[in-house]
Amino acid sequence: MADTPVIPPHAAPELPGYAHVYSGKVRDLYAPRGDTGAPRDDQLLLVASDRISAFDFVLETPVPDKGEVLTRMSLWWFEQLADLVPNHVVSTDVPDAVRGRAVLVRRLDMLPVECVARAYLTGGGLREYRADGQVSGIALPDGLVDGSRFPEPIFTPSTKAPDGEHDEPMSYAEVEAAVGSDLAARARDLTVRILTRGGEIAAERGIIVADTKVEFGVEDGVLVLADEVLTPDSSRFWPADRWEPGHPQPSFDKEFVREWLLSPASGWDKGSGTPPPPLPDEVLERTRAKYVEAYERLTGGTFTPGR
Ligand code: ATP
Ligand code: MG
Repeated sequence: MADTPVIPPHAAPELPGYAHVYSGKVRDLYAPRGDTGAPRDDQLLLVASDRISAFDFVLETPVPDKGEVLTRMSLWWFEQLADLVPNHVVSTDVPDAVRGRAVLVRRLDMLPVECVARAYLTGGGLREYRADGQVSGIALPDGLVDGSRFPEPIFTPSTKAPDGEHDEPMSYAEVEAAVGSDLAARARDLTVRILTRGGEIAAERGIIVADTKVEFGVEDGVLVLADEVLTPDSSRFWPADRWEPGHPQPSFDKEFVREWLLSPASGWDKGSGTPPPPLPDEVLERTRAKYVEAYERLTGGTFTPGR
């Protein structure tokens, strides 16, 4: 095994042969340099760091191996979904410093829409439902509560908000206006099918996928699945054996982080606007174990870092 790369929590590593183009909350994006040394415009290197966010803050302490677990989970899902939708993956042959946590992808024209599908009511959907009995303009049965399962999954797209802003819900008509009715319909159908397929596979392994966000690019008129897919960062995973509608469900991955941050032990006041304190080793270790557990349960494989 190569030396485990040490990636500072908030900085993208220097990668010879690659030009850094962007860092999100969790991932760092690079463009590979071509023969002349200039960055290529047709590919991207997506590097998942170990950064973790909670309550809209990127925490000071990274969760060891998180980026690698999530990258490998996405790659596994791309394969499970390959008959439904093509994907952006070119290669996992990447620099040693980011091996396992990085993927080389085709750089696509992205739809300006976060394609969200929900199988269960919670979060932003619950707030909309409480206001008028609808989510994303879709009328739903009366009497649903936090954690209720919908009769069938629904498409609830949102905007891709610029840095630091929150994604806003979009109506389906707004999606049609943005990308045209043909692409809108295909994106909606694919998003729902991805959640349905993902939900079926995860259910066999004791995990509920309550909702998920995917992003599509367009290539020769065809929708291509890009970004990450069906990871705990893009989806709500719930332990099936603890599912109980009527209150917030425990989150598969961030439960210990949130619990500790809200406990007196952290000394942190969520309403204060100040960043949360570093996580103790015990919370980090339990959280890492949850990510590994999700990966191993889903894929049936064993997670060995740097494999
Ligand atoms: P956040 O921190 O809120 O997630 P973000 O989505 O901007 O912010 P990342 O998820 O780290 O940050 O960045 C991934 C970015 O790369 C997204 O903007 C996504 O649309 C883009 N992206 C993913 N795959 C591709 C691709 N194949 N071609 C072009 N852009 C892509
Ligand atoms: Mg993102």
